[in-house]
Amino acid sequence: MEQAGKKWQKKSIVVISVLSRCRHLTLTMVVYVLGSMPVKIQLVRRILYTKCLLNLCQRKQMAKKIKKRYHASKACKYIQLYVRLLETDANGYGKCCSCDLLLTWEEGQGGHFQPKGRNYNAAAFTIENLHLQCSSCNLYKGGNPAGYMQFMANNYSKETIEKIKQLSYETLDCNQIDDIAREYKQKCIKLDKTKNFKVNII
Ligand SMILES: [Zn+2]
Repeated sequence: MEQAGKKWQKKSIVVISVLSRCRHLTLTMVVYVLGSMPVKIQLVRRILYTKCLLNLCQRKQMAKKIKKRYHASKACKYIQLYVRLLETDANGYGKCCSCDLLLTWEEGQGGHFQPKGRNYNAAAFTIENLHLQCSSCNLYKGGNPAGYMQFMANNYSKETIEKIKQLSYETLDCNQIDDIAREYKQKCIKLDKTKNFKVNII
């Protein structure tokens, strides 16, 4: 575990030194690359300082954004795994919420009713907003909104659906997102014990 951490740190340093030498790299690209890596916040600040493009306030905001993106993608990973385990049976079979296709937990995805947005809104971490979906609906049919809406109307009250829509305009801070990641990791571990197969939860 410790060795894996060191490996990542080494990789992060390499990526950061490359990024800081790229003159034409846009800040959006920096956020995107670093946001998907377990990069330490001090290292993120270092690259933003070396680029010398922003004033102090902007650098701090950018570093905050990268940190949030990293925590948010981690929380999304666990909440999506939880949905895939929750909505499939003990042998790992379940149905796509929007087209009823039979699929396994490995093929299924955690599809969002309200999109999570570029900056991960609060609905991205709301369990009622995520359900088992096939990749065809989730990726190629834009989430299959008609089928998804029908599923939501059959399973939730109008108030809950409105609440989810409202949450898509709200945001959570890093600590709240971190708590969600921890909570759903534990839930995944618990749920995994009820299955006839084993999931490697890391
Ligand atoms: Zn489907």
